[in-house]
Amino acid sequence: MEELKPLIRIQEIDLEIKRIELKLKKEIPTSLQEARQGKEKAEFLVKQVEEKFKENLKRRMDIDLEIKSIEERIKKHSQDLLKVTSNEAYKAMLKEIEEEKERKSALEDEILELLIQEEEIQKEKKEAQQEAERIKKEFSEKEEEFLRQEKELLKRLEELKKERETLASSANPRIYKLYIQIASTHGGIALSPVHDGFCSVCQMKVRPQLLEELRKGERIVRCENCSRILYIPEIEEPA
Ligand SMILES: [Zn+2]
Repeated sequence: MEELKPLIRIQEIDLEIKRIELKLKKEIPTSLQEARQGKEKAEFLVKQVEEKFKENLKRRMDIDLEIKSIEERIKKHSQDLLKVTSNEAYKAMLKEIEEEKERKSALEDEILELLIQEEEIQKEKKEAQQEAERIKKEFSEKEEEFLRQEKELLKRLEELKKERETLASSANPRIYKLYIQIASTHGGIALSPVHDGFCSVCQMKVRPQLLEELRKGERIVRCENCSRILYIPEIEEPA
């Protein structure tokens, strides 16, 4: 049926518009969001390592101060040692000094441990930074690619809408109205090509009498099962 021709193209256009809109509204933003999250995670890991480094440094500075005050106390106790008179007091003072020295030694061990850790943290930091750099670069490339795609799709959308407008204004208003009515209640698909005697959308066999009417092309024939407008696709002309 000649009058169906613009509708067949409109159907193609509508489906392509749907695909493009899905890409623009969902697929591209989702992919971009995923890529952004990956970048943010890498940046967070760098911050975490930097935080570890700061904590290590602060602990070392605190220990330095503590060692200094212990040294002060040892010095003072050693001077006091000369002044005590009783044996008891002398012994107690010596014990005190001994304990302070032990504390100092333990703190010095801790500093060594922290210095070893610092080396590891530096290594970790460098790796995290390199990884973040790599992901950041990857993200920028992806972002650029998405923007390029988006631009292309918007352009394509514009072209399709223009083409659709022209087709819609040239179509038989009654058939176009029917198309809109079926499309809006049937998932956007109003037309169904018949392949080997079957409705290609719902796979129902088309009755021979309807097929005959379809071939004559005198009236609109709809699928008795899914209500879509049936048509026989044009076979490509043999070369
Ligand atoms: Zn059908």
